[in-house]
Amino acid sequence: MSLEVQNLYKQYGEQWAVNDVSFTVGEGEIVGFLGPNGAGKSTTMKIATCYLPPTAGTVRINGLDVLEHPLRVRQQLGYLPEHNPLYLDMYVHEYLRFIGSVHKLSGKRLKQRVGEVVALCGLEREQNKKIQALSKGYRQRVGLAQALVHDPSVLILDEPTTGLDPNQIEEIRGVIRSISARKTVVFSTHIMQEVQALCQRVVIINRGRVVADSPVSRLQQQP
Ligand code: ADP
Ligand code: ADP
Repeated sequence: MSLEVQNLYKQYGEQWAVNDVSFTVGEGEIVGFLGPNGAGKSTTMKIATCYLPPTAGTVRINGLDVLEHPLRVRQQLGYLPEHNPLYLDMYVHEYLRFIGSVHKLSGKRLKQRVGEVVALCGLEREQNKKIQALSKGYRQRVGLAQALVHDPSVLILDEPTTGLDPNQIEEIRGVIRSISARKTVVFSTHIMQEVQALCQRVVIINRGRVVADSPVSRLQQQP
């Protein structure tokens, strides 16, 4: 279980949004990808999840090159985009079944996985509600649940707590912590406290470049 980003570049017009980014997230690690708005976090994550082709460089998920094996990569990868499109008119269980079927789950296995992610994300009481009836915090739990429904080994979360209130943030963190024991997790954020609350290691990106890759404890010792 691993995510390897190697000498990644992405150019938009004249601008290098990602400019020689390399880092690795190993088995069972939860790593924060920290940087200000516009640093290149979303672009890196979209490339890692096969939504955007890089200008140059490689990303490997569990050793598989995302450009060469997009379908196999997506089976092993869970992704919560920053602006996750939820189908507001769907019921929670219906939406999760739909996403599961997109991942080719069916029958008993689909039912079992939907039940597992509903429990994991604390959605038991919400599963029979329409998504539009849910608070922002619960919608984000649904977002996490859809990222997990096919039981991926690597999980990529883009700003998973942005826009939530402190209680909702703590709840989402709780879900992420409970998942992270068994999965490789990388999540992006522009908030240092977010990294401190969840991670042992942080990769800091600024203007498309990695400016630090270090244990969180070492970072905290600096003034
Ligand atoms: P972050 O996620 O860290 O906020 P992004 O990866 O979204 O950063 O953006 C990095 C830079 O690339 C920003 O300057 C942003 O404006 C630019 N950018 C992102 N997407 C596009 C796009 N589709 N076209 C042109 N520029 C883009
Ligand atoms: P995200 O952080 O998820 O990329 P944004 O709100 O930054 O979301 O961007 C919304 C969409 O616009 C994305 O598809 C992004 O790639 C694109 N985008 C972002 N910045 C620019 C830009 N400077 N020029 C053109 N498109 C952009």
